[in-house]
Amino acid sequence: MHTIASNKLAQLFILLKKQGYAVIAPALRDAAIIYDEVETPSDLPVGWTDAQSPGSYRLKKREDDAYFGYAVGPHSWKKVVLPPRMKLWAARREEKGFTISDTTEAPRKLALIGVRACELYAMAIQDTVFIKGDYVDPFYKAQREKLFIVAVNCAQAAETCFCVSMKTGPKAETAYDLALTEVIENKRHYFVAEAGSRRGAAVLAALSTAIARPAEKTAARQVIRKTAASIKRTLDTDGLKTLLYENLAHPRWNDVAERCLTCGNCTMVCPTCFCTTVEEITDLTGDHSEHWRRWDSCFTMDFSFIHGEGSVRSSNKSRYRQWMTHKLASWHDQFGSSGCVGCGRCITWCPPGIDITEEVKAIRKNPA
Ligand code: SF4
Ligand code: SF4
Repeated sequence: MHTIASNKLAQLFILLKKQGYAVIAPALRDAAIIYDEVETPSDLPVGWTDAQSPGSYRLKKREDDAYFGYAVGPHSWKKVVLPPRMKLWAARREEKGFTISDTTEAPRKLALIGVRACELYAMAIQDTVFIKGDYVDPFYKAQREKLFIVAVNCAQAAETCFCVSMKTGPKAETAYDLALTEVIENKRHYFVAEAGSRRGAAVLAALSTAIARPAEKTAARQVIRKTAASIKRTLDTDGLKTLLYENLAHPRWNDVAERCLTCGNCTMVCPTCFCTTVEEITDLTGDHSEHWRRWDSCFTMDFSFIHGEGSVRSSNKSRYRQWMTHKLASWHDQFGSSGCVGCGRCITWCPPGIDITEEVKAIRKNPA
């Protein structure tokens, strides 16, 4: 392990850019911390934090100049490998037939800075869906291979986080190139850095670092321990799949249906939700057609529309039940893991503040 002084963090950005990476990191936009292309560490939300609770997200000033003193926001890294809108191909009418052009964007070398532990798990879940199954998504795979991942161990959790229950955080365990823990103590501000790959080790070796002393390693461990201890929200996953399968007619689904707006926010912000639809766009001449893929949500009526039948899940109740049961139960059958990593986004960004952990508790309390 090495230490990087906080005022040397810029070296990491410069080095990655020299290696041809565009740097994507947390940034302040429209009163939220999102992920965007940045140039230097001063573009990060330095000295800001977020106050989150069910249905509420507010930025607040911190008392220090932490670079990563906040939890996850409305964006997730899925937007990098699975863009919200993507032109797949276009067709132009020629004198004899059509010319088809493949307009899929070329993947770029991207360095993702500030990836949290739960987000690494979410990326691994999406890898299972898009790379490890029978049908490989070529853009996802190509873009995934061009990522350099700088994880950041959480020094601050949101009130909506429950990664400890899901065993996905707050410490980054695998699948990163570099992992940083930000330490601010006794007027010192530094990062304890650990390489997780050969590429990461080479980058670390090229920075101005020092070998981490035992006290600095202990301080970094303390940061993570303190964060874990601050996470009070829990989700009991013991026997959860069976519990949900056996309670498809539970009255709680009616209760949640009265609160759910079926807005789909929860699916948009969720780092593992992956459903998309395709749309055809034509011009009035009929000479030109484009084929776009965009994120879709199981909360829309169209999502389960079957020709001749209509929408299979026509009620709010059936749509919420489908989403939650897929996340926490049938995902295990389909992909071999939970579909939830406990990031808490769906709780924060749900307008009426519906809380997946509370819904499970209600069913568990009074099962069928
Ligand atoms: S659970 Fe909340 S965020 Fe999800 S669709 Fe219902 S109202 Fe929208
Ligand atoms: S279901 Fe909610 S808490 Fe779980 S990963 Fe998705 S957004 Fe995060």
